Amino acid sequence: MTATSVSRVYNFSAGPATLPLPVLQQIQDEIISLPGVGASVLEISHRSKDFDVILEDAQTRIADLLGMPETHEVLFLQGGSALQNAMMPMNFLTDKSQTADYIVSGAWGKKSAAEVHRFGNLNVAWDGKDSGYNCAPQQQDLQLTPGAAYCHMTSNETIQGVQFSELPDAGSPLVVDKSSDMFAEPIDVAKYGMIYACAQKNCGVAGVTVIVMEKSLLERCNDRLPSYLDYSKHSKGGSRFNTPPTFAIYVTGLVCKWLQNEMGGLTGIAKHNEEKAKLLYDVIDQSNGFYAGHAEKDSRSTMNVVFKMADSATDDRFLEEATQNGMTTLKGHRSLGGIRASIYNAMPLEGVEALSNFMKDFASKNG
Ligand SMILES: *Cc1c(COP(=O)(O)O)cnc(C)c1O
Repeated sequence: MTATSVSRVYNFSAGPATLPLPVLQQIQDEIISLPGVGASVLEISHRSKDFDVILEDAQTRIADLLGMPETHEVLFLQGGSALQNAMMPMNFLTDKSQTADYIVSGAWGKKSAAEVHRFGNLNVAWDGKDSGYNCAPQQQDLQLTPGAAYCHMTSNETIQGVQFSELPDAGSPLVVDKSSDMFAEPIDVAKYGMIYACAQKNCGVAGVTVIVMEKSLLERCNDRLPSYLDYSKHSKGGSRFNTPPTFAIYVTGLVCKWLQNEMGGLTGIAKHNEEKAKLLYDVIDQSNGFYAGHAEKDSRSTMNVVFKMADSATDDRFLEEATQNGMTTLKGHRSLGGIRASIYNAMPLEGVEALSNFMKDFASKNG
């Protein structure tokens, strides 16, 4: 049985999320025996020459995709983005008198900010709470701290579907949670102090967190931390301070290869993502109010399209009929209700076309 003969739904899960079919097929082909190795990637030492090739290939592909300058390096860590939320203040607030700025544009930013008080001072530079986290801030609205250790933001709020269209000018190293929009469009890495992204949304499978770190920040790491929690130890160990998530790193390499060879890199995928998101937002905007989008238009996410219907009782029918039509996991996050369509890089255009047609049809029957 080959993967193509297996029936697959259009899976709109927010994460772990759908993977590119060619990536799944290559995993299937290689899972018993990696070509030239004769053993599975699941079975080889993380210090073997064969795994060196896999790890370096993944790092090189990430650097090439992002156009990463020499000032930065790629690290692979575990513990998801949740651990990063704690590791940042732990490493970069080296004494309790220091302050970190946090721009809170949704639920994940709020969670990140909640970790700071154990290590230093939190300054919430902006909080979108009063408008229900439906937009990204304007530069002039930010209350930044002169001399802050760093400034944190979440480039795409996965639950609210709110995405920054441009980076703020933070005045301190910008630390960005890109868990749900990593590799979604070209970025200028030089503008970032640190980027982190758990892989299970847009760059692979659960288990690895991809980090792009400005090397100069590594010199600032708190040296009183347990070794595993110190970024500089991971850097010195070449992401092999201990056994890394070898399979997850391998999959991230395959996802990057797919982006490079089949999707035209980040410029190509960005165009594809714009096209997909437009299909859904157009249906929302042309539905005469049957569907209401959560985010303001200029903060709309290309990755997570969040909307609701006037009557929440309709949600269950929407979800049930969508499932019957091969489109699953469209239920909104429990904190917001409504519908969330996560359309990361790997969601094919046909899946989004199917959903937009279904939405039009559903609105005309129920409106
Ligand atoms: C999913 C997600 C997280 C949490 O990631 P874990 O790997 O579960 O720790 C953090 N931030 C954002 C923006 C996310 O989408």
